[in-house]
Amino acid sequence: MNQVDYLRISLIDRCNFRCQYCMPEGAELDYLLRQQLLTDEELLTLLNEVFIPVGFTRFRLTGGEPLLRPRLVELVRAIASLPQTQDLSMTTNGFLLAPMAQNLYDAGLRRINISLDSLDSEIFDNISGNRGRSRWQQVWDGILAAHRVGFDPLKLNVVVIPGVNDHEILDLAALTIDRQWHVRFIEFMPIGNGDLFGDRGWLSSAELRQRISDRWGLTESAIRGNGPADVFKIPGAKGTLGFISQMSECFCDRCNRMRLSADGWLRPCLLNETGQIDLKTALRSGVDPAELRTQVQDLLQIKPEINYKQRNSGTTGIYTRTMSQIGG
Ligand code: SAM
Ligand code: SF4
Repeated sequence: MNQVDYLRISLIDRCNFRCQYCMPEGAELDYLLRQQLLTDEELLTLLNEVFIPVGFTRFRLTGGEPLLRPRLVELVRAIASLPQTQDLSMTTNGFLLAPMAQNLYDAGLRRINISLDSLDSEIFDNISGNRGRSRWQQVWDGILAAHRVGFDPLKLNVVVIPGVNDHEILDLAALTIDRQWHVRFIEFMPIGNGDLFGDRGWLSSAELRQRISDRWGLTESAIRGNGPADVFKIPGAKGTLGFISQMSECFCDRCNRMRLSADGWLRPCLLNETGQIDLKTALRSGVDPAELRTQVQDLLQIKPEINYKQRNSGTTGIYTRTMSQIGG
């Protein structure tokens, strides 16, 4: 059985962007109220008394946009300094990153993934729901700041949408030639964005690899991260290219993660709510963390079954919750 030791923690469901594929226009988003979010203390209690004792040691902070979480640096410091934390990372849109990068690094964050779907400011603004706001440069500055401060690996996440940004695949891949960055192409998923997905469809990793390979050739790289990316290199490049193929290649069998939502629901599968547990309500009503440990252990036991069901139902359904609500 796969060791499940990786927890993706959504710190907030709100975002300062509104990416078309994540929070599409017209999607009804009921944001959580402040008091509905897990507090820092509750999150640390859950980590110390529930997740770490059952074997979780690697944590990724996500959102919505995690940089919007109040007192984020202190929270990062607290999680990074838990003796059992083996790995702490973050996924961010990078917009608020430049002035925070050094403080986050000093607090113990070492790995960061920044979403960057385009090198063209106008296309970027369209995709990210920032039409007319010219926000690309500030994100790019955040990426450069993360690089300067020493985040390693520095990963850039690209969701490829046919006819929107797929003509930029080679330019995005070329970022890895002279920089030790890792550009990861993520297959576009139909989560909460049925209209766009219906209009545009998606491109498989195999197709993207082929296009890149036709230009430069590609070699398989030995480096694998915590996740499901297949990693390649342009020959002679300093960085790598990752391909995350959750649409074309089901990797439910090797799934090593669970997800904790900003309001404290523990979810065993990205695409499936079976078995999820409301840890925040339990904690607030005084349930003993020992009892919560048992519930999480039980969920870990049935996770392979949930993964198996998910694998058989596939990922081509249309899901109603948005990625921003789940945490990616
Ligand atoms: N706001 C942060 C960001 O954009 O990096 C963190 C949260 S976001 C939900 C996490 C990741 O999910 C991002 O890399 C984003 O590109 C990806 N994502 C969101 N919606 C997606 C979709 N429909 N298909 C594939 N990836 C998606
Ligand atoms: Fe916000 Fe990230 Fe979703 Fe874009 S992908 S809307 S930046 S949560």
